[in-house]
This record gives sequence, C-alpha cells and structure tokens, in this order.
Amino acid sequence: MCKIVIVGGGAGGLELATKLGDKLGRSKKAHVTLVDKNRTHLWKPLLHEVAAGSMDDGIDALSYRAHAKNHGFNFKLGALANIDRDNKLIQLAELVDEDGTQILPESQLSYDILVMALGSISNDFNTKGVREHCIFLDSPQQAKKFHHRMLNKYLQLGVQETKQVSVAIVGAGATGVELSAELFNSLKQVSSYGFEHISSADLKVSLVEAGEKILPALPERISGSAHQELSKLGVDVRTKTMVTEATEQGLLTKDGELIKADLIVWAAGIKAPDFMKDIAGLETNRSNQLVVKSTLQTSLDDCIYALGDCASCALPEGGFVPPRAQSAHQMASLVAKNIIASINKKPLSDYKYTDYGSLVSLSNYSTVGSLMGNLMKGSMMIEGRLARLVYISLYRMHQIALHGYMRTGLITLVESINRVLRPRLKLH
Ligand SMILES: Cc1cc2nc3c(=O)[nH]c(=O)nc-3n(C[C@H](O)[C@H](O)[C@H](O)COP(=O)(O)OP(=O)(O)OC[C@H]3O[C@@H](n4cnc5c(N)ncnc54)[C@H](O)[C@@H]3O)c2cc1C
Repeated sequence: MCKIVIVGGGAGGLELATKLGDKLGRSKKAHVTLVDKNRTHLWKPLLHEVAAGSMDDGIDALSYRAHAKNHGFNFKLGALANIDRDNKLIQLAELVDEDGTQILPESQLSYDILVMALGSISNDFNTKGVREHCIFLDSPQQAKKFHHRMLNKYLQLGVQETKQVSVAIVGAGATGVELSAELFNSLKQVSSYGFEHISSADLKVSLVEAGEKILPALPERISGSAHQELSKLGVDVRTKTMVTEATEQGLLTKDGELIKADLIVWAAGIKAPDFMKDIAGLETNRSNQLVVKSTLQTSLDDCIYALGDCASCALPEGGFVPPRAQSAHQMASLVAKNIIASINKKPLSDYKYTDYGSLVSLSNYSTVGSLMGNLMKGSMMIEGRLARLVYISLYRMHQIALHGYMRTGLITLVESINRVLRPRLKLH
C-alpha cells in the first residue's frame, strides 16, 4: 500500500491529510500519516487574536489525534529534522517535554510520497538583538507568551512605576496591522474585568514599517483606509522607518531614534525554517523555501511535494505565489488531486493560483480589503460589515474543508453560545 507522509498540519497540510484520509485512508487504498510538532491545530491567521487575548486557543484548537481518527489517517507527534531521499525516510528529532526531559528518542518514518507543508517562521533578516528582545507570532505558544506578558504589564500599571504599556510592532503587513487594532479592542475588554483604572491612554502601540506604506502588498486605497483607521484608534504608524537593532529599551532606527517599548513583536517578513536550506540536496531559494514545479512536486524529486508557505512556486506572469492561507488551501486541493492521479497512473495537473483578494481585519472596528484579486481587471475594494463577513468566511472555508458543512454549522453555533457564556477576553 502506498505510504503518504505529510509533514505539517497547518492551513494546507491538515486540509490535505483530511482529504486524503477520507478518499484513500478509509478505503485502505493508501496509508496516510500526518506529522506535526504540536498536538493541536489552530489556524494561523487567528494568532494575533490569541496574542491579544480575544481568542482562547484552549477552546478553539483542534486535536490532531481525534481528527485523524475521524478521517482515516494516522497522526504522529514529532518535529522533522531531516530527509533521507535515498532510503525514502524522514528523520524526526527526539521528543522532549517542557523541562527538556526526553519522551521519545529520534525516530524514522518511511514514505513513498512525501508532502512538505511545514509553513514558515518570522524572518529577522539577522537584525541585531531581535532574537533576544522580540516576540514572534509563529505559534500559539509564542502568541500566548505575548498575551501573558501583556496582562502582567496591565497588572503593573499604576502600581509600580509603569505609567503606560508600550508595544512596538515591526512590520506593517497583515499580521502587524491586525495585531495593532486587536490590542486596542482587548484593552477595552480588559478595563471591564477589574482593570477599571485602565483607559486607551495607557496603551501606546507603535507600528513600524520600513516601506513607504502599510500593507505594502495591497492597493494604495486599502492601505490608506487602514492607515486612517489605525491612526483614529491611536496607533502611532511610522512608515519609512528602518529598524537597525532591538534592545531591552525598545527599537533603534537607522536615524538614531529610540522607539521605547516594553514589548516588541517582530512581524517583518517570513522564511522557511533554517534547517530547510538545501535539505537533502533539494533546491531551495534565499528564504529556504522548496522550489516546486507547476505540479507542486519539488524541482529535483517527483516523490516529494511542497505546499503553502514553505514552497516557492513561480507564477506564469512573473513573481511567486504569495504566502497566504488561501494559497495553502488551493495548493492542498491540487496536491490531493495529483497524489490520487499518480496512484492511478494518470497525468498530473498544473497549479493555477487564483487570487480572491485580501482582507485585513481591524478587530471589531473595521475590516478593509479587496475582492477578486486577479479574477477581474482592477480589484474591488470592500469595507465594513460586508468585508467582515467575507473575512470570517475565509476561516469558515477552512473549517468546512476539515469538518464538512454540518459540523462547521454546529461549531459556529457553539462559538455563538460561548460568546454569551464566557468572558470576552482570555484573562489568564
Ligand atoms: C498573525 C497572522 C495573521 C495572518 N493573517 C492572514 C490572513 O488574514 N489571510 C491569509 O491568507 N493569510 C494570513 N496569514 C498567513 C497564513 O497564516 C499562512 O500563509 C498559512 O497559515 C500558511 O499555511 P501552511 O499550511 O503553509 O503553514 P502553517 O499554517 O503555518 O502550518 C505549518 C504547520 O507545520 C508544523 N511544523 C512546523 N515545523 C515543523 C517541523 N519541523 N516538523 C513537524 N511539523 C512542523 C506547524 O506546527 C504547523 O502546524 C497570517 C499569518 C499570521 C502569523
């Protein structure tokens, strides 16, 4: 039986495992295994909400093991360390607990078809002090770390010398912009849960961007509209500001200014993890992403596919498929189709990226974005309620890919009930 191993159960990998498990695993046409270094899945675009406390990942995360049982695939907990292409094996690092005690030694897993879907991490571009002084929003653990530190800072307000909580966010892409707005929303909530002395004047958020405008990948009018909304909230938006160093006090800029900050979030770009550079002799680019052909097979090995943020897929019109949840979703569908075709000895299809547009949520305050992307000449700008609805529907589409319509409907209902029963903010 064909052994399919998928590494990374994120926006793309988990959808793929679910599809292949349902189509091939259940009927024993293939043995499908998903490997992830975490025990649970949370859709990555929600991480800024976990960081701000608006979302409790303990409630919203999905257990890989339970999901695997319901969808005909196996789940293996572990972190990929290397690939042995000659023997068609992947090597998993030893598994350790929070204290560093070994749970399981290094192990191996054999494959006939391997899919790399392990996403990306923040790119610090080797900027001095970033590793030591900045928090990245790469995983729920890191998002929770930020949230705890933020709550501790609120506790110190007015008690110790702390007069204001200052947060600096480097990078005004979707992550930085969404987090800036979400922090003001969570502050509003915090003040209604026993922190009555806190007001929006106690929070200073600086959004620092090296480029000319925020949301550089989006059309001018959308970034302009988002810029206006953020300024209205009180975010100090600084474009054309190059950060040269992160220190304990804050950020140093190229012009010699110190932007003071108690907490710094680095969201200035992405790359695939460093161990992916030239992994097993495969072709990778400057950002450690695996170079793939139009079939999403890696350029030097047809048995290995790559999708999502860790793949570098050229667009026929020039440029590359952007690292977005919608790309990972579309790539997962194509890889599933191609794996099934290859098992049935049928020709493979080419990946065609469809840009449905981009939406940026400014928390409860506003949502802005464009629809239709490359589907029509010139994108259509949307704002407000309609944009919010479309934004939420992106997550619903991911849930439908994992659970089907019926279960997603039930999950949506439970979420609505939870909004009434539970605090609006995670307070611990
Ligand atoms: C705060 C934030 C907001 C965002 N907002 C949007 C948005 O609004 N719209 C949008 O389209 N995109 C958004 N994105 C980008 C989007 O989240 C990614 O493009 C998308 O998640 C990529 O999917 P993926 O499947 O490639 O990787 P991921 O979803 O990142 O999944 C990777 C998986 O691999 C696992 N993994 C990593 N390393 C290993 C290893 N060594 N061994 C085993 N497993 C491993 C991880 O645990 C994870 O489960 C946002 C990202 C962030 C951080």
